[in-house]
Amino acid sequence: MKILIVDDSKPILSMVSSMVTELGHEPLVAEHGQAAFDVIAKQPDVDLVLLDWNMPVMNGLEFLEKNQAESIFTIPIFMMTTENSPEKIQKALSSGAVDYIMKPFTVDILENKIELLEDLLGD
Ligand SMILES: [Mg+2]
Repeated sequence: MKILIVDDSKPILSMVSSMVTELGHEPLVAEHGQAAFDVIAKQPDVDLVLLDWNMPVMNGLEFLEKNQAESIFTIPIFMMTTENSPEKIQKALSSGAVDYIMKPFTVDILENKIELLEDLLGD
């Protein structure tokens, strides 16, 4: 899978990229939502987006809402978040995220989530 990681923290981009590589997938990175749209415009074959919540320029929720309002792409999106309020998680899910991962997470948790998605997609 080609997996786009969207986060404003360079250490997190680096750490999650390593996990994605370790799991045999190809990581791409973007530092905020607008940069993520730019990456997807150039590489529409991205299979999964891992999306941070709090970012400058365009945050995760703004990214979800723009994508939903303008029907830009249908790539599955997982929120990566430290937000654990049910209202916020529900908001992300109703705005187009298919799942969420609580930060910090391990490579095993990421692997598990990706496998569930692959089962869902029938791979
Ligand atoms: Mg952030």
